[in-house]
Amino acid sequence: MNILITGATGYIGSHIALVLIHKGYNVVLYDNLSNSNHNVNTALKIITGKIIPFIHGDIRDTEKLVEILVDYKIDAVVHLAGKKAVNESIQKPIYYYENNVAGSISLLKAIEKVNLKKVVFSSSATVYGNPQYLPIDEKHSTNPTNPYGQSKLQIENILFDYTKSEQNFGVACLRYFNPVGAHQSGLIGENPKGIPNNLMPYICQVATGKLPYLKIFGNDYNTHDGTGVRDYIHVMDIAEGHLAALNLIENTKGWHTINLGSGQGYSVLEVLITFEQTSNKFIPYKIENRRPGDIDICFAKTEKAEKILKWKAKRTLNDMCWSTWNFHLQSFVNNN
Ligand code: NAD
Ligand code: UDP
Repeated sequence: MNILITGATGYIGSHIALVLIHKGYNVVLYDNLSNSNHNVNTALKIITGKIIPFIHGDIRDTEKLVEILVDYKIDAVVHLAGKKAVNESIQKPIYYYENNVAGSISLLKAIEKVNLKKVVFSSSATVYGNPQYLPIDEKHSTNPTNPYGQSKLQIENILFDYTKSEQNFGVACLRYFNPVGAHQSGLIGENPKGIPNNLMPYICQVATGKLPYLKIFGNDYNTHDGTGVRDYIHVMDIAEGHLAALNLIENTKGWHTINLGSGQGYSVLEVLITFEQTSNKFIPYKIENRRPGDIDICFAKTEKAEKILKWKAKRTLNDMCWSTWNFHLQSFVNNN
């Protein structure tokens, strides 16, 4: 089966590419490199021993997409390309809607033109907004609290409508919780530009001495130790979830919304302590004010994924912390 991955050289796309290549899929990488670089493709070649076609392109370029879909006889698209920073989306909403929503419409136009019938879309648990109950299942109301989340929900709605209008169209819409960790080789992983917004990359930068201490955003939440609780899931589990989703839409048409989470919540302090234990690094921290918009607890109900995808996250918080740190050590060795 020939698969086009958009956003393929990004953090999650590169891990999906690896898993699919190992399973024997022919993968084509498509990315505009706005938040990634060519080194990722080199790393993929080293890990797999294969030359993987890479196309430097933007999802807003419909004609280029049509050309690629035809030339490579693509059977299914795994669509990850998009901007994902919540704060940036509040500052630049038009840019986010243009890139994420208009970009997805452009991709769908290309898909329609070549009569392609299978899409896996990377959505986010952020579409749920503030949890009304826990664990969050797929029937939970959607009420995103920022333009990034809105853009994800709008793409979902567009894909859903298209699925209704095209009888044989199949979409697996995967709502990720908090992806962290890296491939065991340490050659690919999450490497955000500038000061990280998310917890795990921030902890890493403290561990490597780039930042002096972790700011813990509040210890007065309604959780067992007062710090925020999230559903962290290993990026390799996420990648394997896409493999399962491709199997699903190979055999089933229609619309499927599925959570990809571990179903387990961990607090900021638990993540910090596990990271210290696995990396053998001391992580200084200070308790600061709450970050605006943050919630107490969020974790997934995972039964639907288990039932429909026959997939379950299997890696532990230890695995997530160790692999993250291993990736940062390798990056340090390679860059110095
Ligand atoms: P990432 O930024 O590492 O990867 C996204 C890739 O898309 C980048 O390589 C970027 O260059 C590319 N891209 C962006 N706009 C593009 C465009 N117009 N045309 C072509 N390429 C474009 O992010 P990631 O963490 O790998 O996330 C991948 C997807 O998963 C995103 O759609 C994101 O919204 C979604 N997601 C991520 C998380 C998370 O915490 N990482 C959680 C839920 C959902
Ligand atoms: N967090 C923190 N310091 C940081 C980054 C995050 O204390 O520098 C906390 C944040 O308040 C939340 C948890 O870590 O409780 C996860 O935050 P992240 O931004 O990684 O994920 P999200 O909040 O988007 O689920």
